[in-house]
Amino acid sequence: MARNLDTYRKKRDFARTPEPKGKRGREGKRPMFVIQQHDARNMHYDLRLEVDGVLASWAVPKGPSTDPRVKRLAVQVEDHPLDYGDFEGRIGKGEYGGGAVIVWDTGPYKNLTEKDGEPVEMADALEHGHVKVALEGKKLAGAFALTRTRDGKKPQWILVKMNDEGADRRRNPVSTQPESVLSGRTVADVAAGEA
Ligand code: MN
Repeated sequence: MARNLDTYRKKRDFARTPEPKGKRGREGKRPMFVIQQHDARNMHYDLRLEVDGVLASWAVPKGPSTDPRVKRLAVQVEDHPLDYGDFEGRIGKGEYGGGAVIVWDTGPYKNLTEKDGEPVEMADALEHGHVKVALEGKKLAGAFALTRTRDGKKPQWILVKMNDEGADRRRNPVSTQPESVLSGRTVADVAAGEA
């Protein structure tokens, strides 16, 4: 999948949605990840990884797990602009992706992908369907693996926590830490219009 924002922009009417159109660059900074909780038609968590100036994106219906035994479906969606990474707000009913969005976790990440002991660049890792990243978030820490299991228009991947110091079989941050790491709000607060 090429890294560009054409599909993102085509799906949205920027006169109507509060979402960013996308222009900001972040040269010289460490790549960032964000996980946004999105209370759309179906509640889901959008995992986004900064790759070559955009946010490669997956919709994860159940959200990430810190338990290495748990595999989570992650459906790859269109690349999003970098300035989507701190977007919180209400997308209007009837608009594409209508519903409340919060930044559930964010921070820098490190690409750990290797092949035959050699580092693999993120764009190549995505192309090859296997990505390993170490997240440095407020809720999530340590390595996660993404593996593509089905290609096509909406490629399916599996998201799984690697067994390291960030792994925890008993934690369930999706349910116990529902608040935004930026504003402290929940999706219900945002839906209700609370600042
Ligand atoms: Mn979404």
